[in-house]
Amino acid sequence: MPRKRSIRLRCPICKKTVKSSDPEFPFCSERCRVIDLGKWASGAYVISSPLRDTSDTDGEGGSGKPSEDE
Ligand SMILES: [Zn+2]
Repeated sequence: MPRKRSIRLRCPICKKTVKSSDPEFPFCSERCRVIDLGKWASGAYVISSPLRDTSDTDGEGGSGKPSEDE
């Protein structure tokens, strides 16, 4: 079975095919990389120590917080 030399993955953000030689690998572009970083920063992923900004991020009550995934 012929195998391609270049490893390709999909960008976790936009699912576009990314070559391992891409400078922004595993993201297709800097934009997607920044988006992924933004996810971490905004707490889309579980972080052990919650980041507390001045006032915008107290999601304890759950009221008035826009839910993104339902
Ligand atoms: Zn992408």
